[in-house]
Amino acid sequence: MSMHDLKHKCGVFGIFGIEEASVLTTLGLHSLQHRGQEGAGIVSFDGEQFHAIRREGLVGDNFNDTDTLSKLPGRQAVGHVRYSTTGESSLENIQPLFANLAAGGFACAHNGNLTNTLSLRNELVQTGSIFHTTSDTEVILQLVARSKKHKIVDKIADALDQITGAYSLIIMTNKKLIGIRDPFGIRPLVLGKKDGAYVLASETCALDIMGATTIRDIKNGEMVVISESGVESIQLSSLHNERPCIFERIYFARPDSIIGGKTVYSYRKQLGIQLANEHAIDADVVVPIPDSGVPAALGYAQVSGVPFELGIIRNHYIGRTFIEPSQTIRQFGVKLKHSVNHSVIKGKRVVLIDDSLVRGTTANKVVRMIFEAGATEVHLGISSPPIKYPDFYGIDTPRSADLLAANQSLEEMTSTIGATSLFFLSLSGTYQAMGVPHRHSSVPEFTDHCFTGDYPINVDELLALDRVCEPHGRHA
Ligand code: AMP
Repeated sequence: MSMHDLKHKCGVFGIFGIEEASVLTTLGLHSLQHRGQEGAGIVSFDGEQFHAIRREGLVGDNFNDTDTLSKLPGRQAVGHVRYSTTGESSLENIQPLFANLAAGGFACAHNGNLTNTLSLRNELVQTGSIFHTTSDTEVILQLVARSKKHKIVDKIADALDQITGAYSLIIMTNKKLIGIRDPFGIRPLVLGKKDGAYVLASETCALDIMGATTIRDIKNGEMVVISESGVESIQLSSLHNERPCIFERIYFARPDSIIGGKTVYSYRKQLGIQLANEHAIDADVVVPIPDSGVPAALGYAQVSGVPFELGIIRNHYIGRTFIEPSQTIRQFGVKLKHSVNHSVIKGKRVVLIDDSLVRGTTANKVVRMIFEAGATEVHLGISSPPIKYPDFYGIDTPRSADLLAANQSLEEMTSTIGATSLFFLSLSGTYQAMGVPHRHSSVPEFTDHCFTGDYPINVDELLALDRVCEPHGRHA
């Protein structure tokens, strides 16, 4: 199994007890599209039968016609949007996964990465399991299928006892919709209500689109079981402190989603404010790398008093399929995605702001474009710390060899990128922007392994692979 079989960032959605459940699921998935653009799938249950449609591509392109939706009847549905890295997107890996277990139909949508599935999968194959996909989620399915417990809820608990990793799961059976967050609550999952029906979703933006109200976050280690009799909460794992992934707030979640009581947008703006407090630059304009750098650049400009300008315009209509096939097109690189608004750049000392630096590809290209457009200085400010460690919990930052900050000093990075100067937000400044005055040293409030190498869940199995794997491409 290659590294990128293990890497997927995704969005999940489920709804129980409402007419046209699949239509609402389509809407929810559409709002979660930023979490995965590779493929989407919906499984519905009509009281007698399960129905499933999974397709490569965007939700809006695949689930927008009445013909498709009429094939997904019923008052309960679960859906998934998937992002996989280069070349590993195949139809059978698109979720929700579905199996007819002895106890009945079982659909499962997963966001996150499991960390011990290589060994578990080997054990399962040795003892006769047949896998249909390369996705780690199928291990959960196989373990549930094999569990000797009687009730489905106990079978699931039994399976989850054997796995480690980051997971937000939505499972649907003929009678229940079940939401689960891993013991640390690394990936998000929220509970909401729409006209008396319960909804589960990765982010609140998926509730807002359909006028559903947010009830609360699912707790770390919690299983909520939704059925005709309402919602039951079961605490699965002995309670750890919650450690949600800090990168959801920095980059991954949608700005209008609410996490921990505040919009993601407000955290990002605060990151920019902290960055300006830590690094004052004598400059003429503050320019975001759109869209990811916009809230932080607003915060930076507000504190520094340097005017905010849209010096880079982003083309929203490029897709991977357009960039990938031809070398002729590919060599235009970032120009397909970003172009310079010359009027605000020429002759100016520019502070460029982005939320994160991963491989440095974006920064490298954008800094050069800004110089070509006549800037006299280009200072690049990143509103988070250097990413020095790979992720194994579902946000798909690449292996160490590809992470710029894992391999180069600040001076080396500055010269690689070609900037006048490069500066990052400190880890303590990042925590302060999240409203946490000090990072708790033994049990930090967040999972921040990308910056610190502090992995709350053992990743030895995956670190070993990180060291031996061939580099692979990633498409931002
Ligand atoms: P890079 O060009 O590899 O340095 O990636 C940095 C850019 O990608 C920034 O503009 C980020 O907003 C964005 N980014 C950060 N993390 C991710 C991720 N996990 N997947 C896709 N894009 C990302």
